[in-house]
Amino acid sequence: MQLLLATSNPHKIEEVQAILVPLNIEVISLDEYDVVPQEPVEDGETFEANARIKAIYYAQQLGCTCIADDSGLEVDALGGAPGVHSGRFASDEIDSFYGLQRTDRDAANNRKLLRLLVSVPAAQKTARFVCALCLADADGNVLAESRGTFEGVITDTPTGDNGFGYDPLLCLPDMNCTSAQLTPQDKNARSHRGNAARQMAEHLRRSASADLH
Ligand code: IMP
Repeated sequence: MQLLLATSNPHKIEEVQAILVPLNIEVISLDEYDVVPQEPVEDGETFEANARIKAIYYAQQLGCTCIADDSGLEVDALGGAPGVHSGRFASDEIDSFYGLQRTDRDAANNRKLLRLLVSVPAAQKTARFVCALCLADADGNVLAESRGTFEGVITDTPTGDNGFGYDPLLCLPDMNCTSAQLTPQDKNARSHRGNAARQMAEHLRRSASADLH
């Protein structure tokens, strides 16, 4: 079975592939298409709504079954921000934001977050990553949806080189490290995306076995 994961973020691709490939599901990305349709407008107010917009759009445009991920960071002291705006959080402060490399956009987002939290007491810096996945077929039907969360506390200093985005800022108090200090395997074992992908894998396994009977 082959599925398109509608993203060109290499980290998201690796994390989802690690869970679906052992089930004999080949996960391809938008980078494998010669011509990729223009991105849809992600104007949903929830991760679920945006995952649905992307999955239905790319499945219909490219004529294949498609999974889309919409994910981000919710910080309690900021009323859930950056939330669905996580990837573009600092775009209001930097003119050339969308022309930057992904790592530079991530660094700008992280700097803005740290600045907004500078006077917030440590105990109130609770936060979580959220991942919504949506599976849609080429006719635009939603076949399955899943959601995972990954709880932590925002650190004062970015720490760790693994992962992407806000990983260096999400401290996992029970492990005394940030998400960016976890190996890819350890991150996937407990992360929002790992959990959402495992639920999706279970759905795909059940539908494949129902098809056989
Ligand atoms: P999206 O591509 O619109 O879903 O934006 C997702 C954004 O949320 C990314 O650019 C990151 O800033 C953040 N994000 C989502 N998942 C993770 C993760 O696993 N680690 C760190 N940051 C994440």
